[in-house]
Amino acid sequence: MHYKSTRNSSLRLEASQVIAKGISDEGGLFLPVSIPSVVSELEALSGMNYNTLAKKILSLYLTDFTKEEIECCVDAAYTKSKFEDVNPVQIKKLNATASFLELWHGPTCAFKDMALQILPHLLTVSLKKQKQDQKALILVATSGDTGKAALEGFKDVENTEVVVFYPENGVSPMQKLQMATQEGKNVGVCAVKGNFDDTQTGIKEIFTNDEIKKTLYEAGYSFSSANSINWGRLLPQIVYYFYAYFELYRNGEIKALGDKVNFVVPTGNFGNILAAYYAMQMGLPVNKLICASNANRVLTDFISTGTYDKKRDFYLTASPSMDILVSSNLERLLYLLSGEDSEKLSSWMTALGEKGEYTVDEDTIAGVKSIFYGNYCDDSETEDVIKTVFENENYLADTHTAVAIGVYNKYISETNDNTPTVIASTASPYKFVKDVLSSIDNQVIDDEFDMVTRLEQLTGLQPQAQIIDLKNKAVRFDTVIEKSEMQNYVLSLFSPAKDDL
Ligand SMILES: *Cc1c(COP(=O)(O)O)cnc(C)c1O
Repeated sequence: MHYKSTRNSSLRLEASQVIAKGISDEGGLFLPVSIPSVVSELEALSGMNYNTLAKKILSLYLTDFTKEEIECCVDAAYTKSKFEDVNPVQIKKLNATASFLELWHGPTCAFKDMALQILPHLLTVSLKKQKQDQKALILVATSGDTGKAALEGFKDVENTEVVVFYPENGVSPMQKLQMATQEGKNVGVCAVKGNFDDTQTGIKEIFTNDEIKKTLYEAGYSFSSANSINWGRLLPQIVYYFYAYFELYRNGEIKALGDKVNFVVPTGNFGNILAAYYAMQMGLPVNKLICASNANRVLTDFISTGTYDKKRDFYLTASPSMDILVSSNLERLLYLLSGEDSEKLSSWMTALGEKGEYTVDEDTIAGVKSIFYGNYCDDSETEDVIKTVFENENYLADTHTAVAIGVYNKYISETNDNTPTVIASTASPYKFVKDVLSSIDNQVIDDEFDMVTRLEQLTGLQPQAQIIDLKNKAVRFDTVIEKSEMQNYVLSLFSPAKDDL
């Protein structure tokens, strides 16, 4: 299996090259030249445990990896000690037709662990195959969840260094504490006086600065990416859609292999739901993919009109990991649905950069609509959902998952569709304890850990030890810099002159 780019269809790279590079030189995103089918193998796959299934699916895409290399990566990532159980994801029933796929039982209590626990292993193997003797220097901009998951995934991984930048006032207190107390010899965390966009822009400037690249190359470092444009983050996410389907089959919620299901996915960068689309194209029986947004409803509007318009107000919401106006992974979907036309795709992406919007052709948006349903929930709807679902169904949803439930409710009232449905549950409610607690309780509490205690008393749901333990961990990182200082900060850490500073 070779890989090409959304902006250059004639490119042919190996999987290990694609994972090591992260993004294509001309700015496009890598994808496999074709999508492997498992339609004739559903019966055999349905009997596999999580890791066996993961090895099978990864092997269809990572064709320049050996069987042993894939086995080592999967078995090192998904362990009982990291994910509470031998199977890293859990299915919980909501009602007669809908179930939750809980993806947050990993080390950082959000779904990003599903990919970021395995990516460092995939990257290490890829770098060896590419005979790259440089250390991989991974710079991350985060609004909270990706940063912590990347730190935890890459901590003490040989030949890697990871530095995370987060907006000083743009993450939840729990997220800030998770990052500031991070352990490991090869990690760094730095707060930036600015917003998330400033940190993202700062990193792009470092990535594209030839002088910095050269200085760091001579010091033994090459840049790599851990955000969701890397194919190595998308691929592991395909597995749990198959696993969820087979769990429903094994539980009798699906009568026959081949019966269709819906997936509801709370969406920001379009990575998680794109993995569901890949699963569908591989032969997983899917009826609709339901794309749930918060008040930053750029995808809802795109799915209904065919125009993607980022020129709009940006809202800070109770579901911060979905506060995004440029959903990078949509580029991969549009490439696939526009007849794999890299010129057409490039022109849309150029228009987005220059004019802040683009409109796709009739066929492409018709293709999107035949598979995707899009809608959104604002913060007050989200709060109502958390309260109602807790009181009526005894399920405590985090703010992101609640957006998905709310959008599913809108879908049902519009369509009366009774297809069995899986809702992706993407974070522990304790990670967003303030907004979750205030949805079901009127008492005013100031301290985050007192809120955790109160939420446990009210719901009986045990908080993860990783959350409780934060209270007693030493803060290792308290540096705050101006946004103009990001380049010097990176150089001070990794250039040879650092001993002189
Ligand atoms: C990142 C994130 C999302 C959005 O996922 P995308 O792949 O960016 O669409 C949803 N919920 C939580 C909790 C997240 O951390």
